[in-house]
Amino acid sequence: MTILTYDPNYYPGKGCLCAARNQNDCACIYVDWTDPEVYRLRSYLQGLLATIHRDGGHYTDKHGLEQSVIDAEVIVCKLLVQI
Ligand SMILES: [Zn+2]
Repeated sequence: MTILTYDPNYYPGKGCLCAARNQNDCACIYVDWTDPEVYRLRSYLQGLLATIHRDGGHYTDKHGLEQSVIDAEVIVCKLLVQI
């Protein structure tokens, strides 16, 4: 997903600055109707992955969220076996 923040109609998170109450009524472009909760949970996940990969988020940036989760699960499983 590409977010173009230069657009004056952009609204970060669910909703639009126009009078539309839902996505189907909004004809504006570059409006993000994603629920803000999604961004909050994604941020938590990225923080957890950065801790597991011990890199501040670089691994996830390079390999993508899905692959990072898969590889993090392997790391955690190996650590749990060692306990
Ligand atoms: Zn709108």
